Amino acid sequence: ALPVYGAPGTSKERTFIAVKPDGVQRNLVGEIISRFERRGYKLVGLKLLVPPVELAKEHYADLSSKPFFAGLVDYMTNGRAPVVGMVWEGPSVIKQGRIMLGATDPKNSGTGTIRGDFCLSIGRNIVHGSDSAESAEKEISLWFGGKGEVVNWTSNNEEWVISEN
Ligand code: GDP
Ligand code: MG
Repeated sequence: ALPVYGAPGTSKERTFIAVKPDGVQRNLVGEIISRFERRGYKLVGLKLLVPPVELAKEHYADLSSKPFFAGLVDYMTNGRAPVVGMVWEGPSVIKQGRIMLGATDPKNSGTGTIRGDFCLSIGRNIVHGSDSAESAEKEISLWFGGKGEVVNWTSNNEEWVISEN
């Protein structure tokens, strides 16, 4: 049977990746998209927005008791720069996306990762990526919940990138 779009563990697994306002401000949108494209992942959702406060609070709900929560929500939503939200599809994209991002704190992010190559501070770490299948499902529906916002399509070079065995 063909894999269902978005099903974790299949070649059509999906994750939510975002360039945060500092990444947009620093002109790293193209660099970050390019890294996922070149790896072979497929872009299936893309939008530029200043997220509403309620969206950011829900997105980071698991951190609501942290001392930095208010600052984090403000930084994501104050409009000094927008966020670029994306959905990427492909084998192991949730786990590999996190590896491509690097550790949350850039002090510990390896060179070659996005954070390890482009940032210095945990509070300005330029990208977000879903950390599990559950988070990916929640975040994709939160950011791309409207009809047709995530696009199912077949890449012409898919057979040169993905082998099912
Ligand atoms: P992530 O999944 O790697 O982004 O990390 P978390 O889910 O633990 O935290 C979400 C985001 O909150 C991080 O990417 C940081 O932008 C921010 N954050 C986490 N810990 C800290 C902290 O100790 N201080 C500050 N200022 N921000 C933090
Ligand atoms: Mg997280």
